[in-house]
Amino acid sequence: MSDSDVTRVARRVMEPVLRHQRKGQRTGSCALTPCPACRDAHLVRVERCIAAGEPVRFVLPAFPGKSPNTAKVLGVLPDMAEKLALEFLSGLTERIRQVYAPGAEILICSDGRVFSDAVGIPDEHITAYQREMQTLIDALPQPSGIGLFNLEDMPELAGLPHDRMREILSERYAEPLEQLRKRVRAGEEAPLYRAITRFLFEDGNTPEYTGSRSALQRDARARAYVVIQRSKAWGDLLADRFPGAVRLSIHPQACGADKLGIHLVQTPDNWLTPWHSVALDTGDGGHVLIKRSEAEERGAELVRIAGRPSHYVLSAPAATAA
Ligand SMILES: [Zn+2]
Repeated sequence: MSDSDVTRVARRVMEPVLRHQRKGQRTGSCALTPCPACRDAHLVRVERCIAAGEPVRFVLPAFPGKSPNTAKVLGVLPDMAEKLALEFLSGLTERIRQVYAPGAEILICSDGRVFSDAVGIPDEHITAYQREMQTLIDALPQPSGIGLFNLEDMPELAGLPHDRMREILSERYAEPLEQLRKRVRAGEEAPLYRAITRFLFEDGNTPEYTGSRSALQRDARARAYVVIQRSKAWGDLLADRFPGAVRLSIHPQACGADKLGIHLVQTPDNWLTPWHSVALDTGDGGHVLIKRSEAEERGAELVRIAGRPSHYVLSAPAATAA
């Protein structure tokens, strides 16, 4: 393939990804779909894979574990919300395969183990969540192009206690918290900080919580810094380990950033994810992600699959009596 052919194919490979971009702004070239600046930021890595005749590699830090707040989710295990997201990602690799035969591989780099202590998810729940994620991945139509990578998959960390794994990650990659605080106060990472703080506040604001709102808010802010610090450390570890991969993100990103934000499932909230919500079958063949409490307020019915809570469905309007 000539260089210009490689570039042409690389652009086509990026098209289906950019169609689902989760944009941080809608101005400048980002008002266009696909945005050329966002596409070109990742083109070199895509071109390298194509020139070598290899699958295009993506890494996606995501799917940490279910939120501990049962007003938002159905339980600790992946359910229809994760299944829909996995089907979407697998469909994306299929669309890439149609324009580039070697296709694509999306490695889901679960970040649950990385910050479980800071978000209040027990490590056993992370383990159970990851195991079920692998089961869902194995059940996808093959080839799915989807893989799963966790902190314990780092060979030098295997078998260590989970706290020690996090310590080693932090020793090697974490930015000092004081420096991160300064950057956030200066406006960097501010939307991410606000979103994480909101999630942690909501997750802690359960019926069992008896403290004050301001104490909970303070605690959420302090933990948000740790979550961002560890997420960044995880991202840096992944960049070292998978240098040739295009870095995807579940958060909106600035135009032309080195991470590309994407939507996994349609949602009315730009920050909502499968692990902070439930899937609602809207009755017209589609699903959206919403908080569990909202599904229940809308009178949706719980659907169980193999005995386990899976998702909600909006019941058909009652037939009017003749
Ligand atoms: Zn852009």
